Amino acid sequence: MGLMTKEQYIESLRKLNLKVYMFGELVENVVDHPIIRPSLNSVAMTYELAQNPEFEDLMTATSDLTGEKVNRFTHLHQNTGDLIKKVKMQRLLGQKTASCFQRCVGMDAFNSLFSTTYELDKEHGTSYHENFKKFLTYVQNNDLTVDGAMTDPKGDRGLSPSKQEDPDMYLRVVERRADGIVVRGAKAHQTGMTNSHEIIVMPTIAMTENDKDWAVSFAVPTDAEGVFHIYGRQSCDTRKLEDGMIDRGNSEFGGQETLTVFENVFVPNDRIFLNGETEFAGMLVERFAGYHRQSYGGCKVGVGDVLIGAAAVASEYNGAHKATHIKDKLIEMTHLNETLFACGIACSAEGHVTKAGNYEIDNLLANVCKQNVTRFPYEICRLAEDIAGGLMVTMPSEQDFRNPKTGPYIDKYLKGVAAVSTENRMKILRLIENMTLGTAAVGYRTESMHGAGSPQAQRIMIARQGNLAYKKKLAKTIAKVNE
Ligand code: SF4
Ligand code: FE
Repeated sequence: MGLMTKEQYIESLRKLNLKVYMFGELVENVVDHPIIRPSLNSVAMTYELAQNPEFEDLMTATSDLTGEKVNRFTHLHQNTGDLIKKVKMQRLLGQKTASCFQRCVGMDAFNSLFSTTYELDKEHGTSYHENFKKFLTYVQNNDLTVDGAMTDPKGDRGLSPSKQEDPDMYLRVVERRADGIVVRGAKAHQTGMTNSHEIIVMPTIAMTENDKDWAVSFAVPTDAEGVFHIYGRQSCDTRKLEDGMIDRGNSEFGGQETLTVFENVFVPNDRIFLNGETEFAGMLVERFAGYHRQSYGGCKVGVGDVLIGAAAVASEYNGAHKATHIKDKLIEMTHLNETLFACGIACSAEGHVTKAGNYEIDNLLANVCKQNVTRFPYEICRLAEDIAGGLMVTMPSEQDFRNPKTGPYIDKYLKGVAAVSTENRMKILRLIENMTLGTAAVGYRTESMHGAGSPQAQRIMIARQGNLAYKKKLAKTIAKVNE
């Protein structure tokens, strides 16, 4: 079938029979739901840009599996150039949507599973790699969006999966049959789940010998029997149900997370990629996390570009743009944002080939990238709020602006510089509010902290890969220490 257009993508979602719950009810029309639709529009942008000749080089690639042109979001990275293009593509999409566009989790799952299943099969004589290649070929040929599902609810963080009081706190195999397995559990914070056709489930931590039933990876459709999704709330989400567009800040785009439940779901044998080989769970987790930590050096930078732009426009609308401290704050925001981009590019440029043949990022640098992402967007938000002024959180509603009695007063008293309409000023301030405190803040602020692993997860990897022993040796040699 080849690449889908944006319209074909939207129609393909209509064919799914998703079970999505929101505000205590089963959603009847997922595709057109006003709270869900902006998140769908963000994913649709990954299809729309792939059709645009201007972005063809970033958005598409030639599949090593089929030789066909595919969307880069379904591609296995063939060299460091591919890794760099991935980051640039993500920055571009962040700029176009000012939100999380969700499709990266699938791409990062493909690349980590491709190499892990290859090494697993070599060790165990299994056929997971063939299973996975067959699945990915299907994804590429149909240009599907796939949710990469890693995060389990985890229960008591001090206990391993098999020691939990409730064994379902980590998704697990509950039955082994000749034709496949039956699984039960849940995956939390699932980015883009209801905008996806398929789910790839992976374990969320390294496993011990006792955790065999929890060391499982597979793919099922998002509307598989026994799967349902509970929609995650975002700050200010019900503004999307209001008339008008100003108060939504970003009326067209958004992100999405769900709590997805697997209630005794059957997985046929040819869709299983890991089943009890506990020692490979950690490898899969580390590789997926590494790719997704690289991703943040692209997507967050693109969203940051929009926020920096919005702060600059707000300063002009306030008449403050010539002040040296405003200029300096914009410089600082740019410096922080480009530092994140530099990390994303660096871990890509330093990438290496895996035993399976696809390319992996430099893991230490990817973890440094994400560690910076847990901090810099917060500072960029702080500076944006500083520049915007308090009005971004005290401004009356759009309804009051449209009201014949109050509207003229809002128009008169909330005006900044004479040449700019109050309405435009309100729009820009609401956009900043949206990105720092509203629905997009999920994807830009708090996700910068916890997405792709919380800060401590990166510090563990940095400690493991920082090679302190070598550095100590360097110091002793220079100091001519005799021990
Ligand atoms: Fe992609 Fe960024 Fe969203 Fe992750 S947080 S899915 S990398 S846009
Ligand atoms: Fe994320």
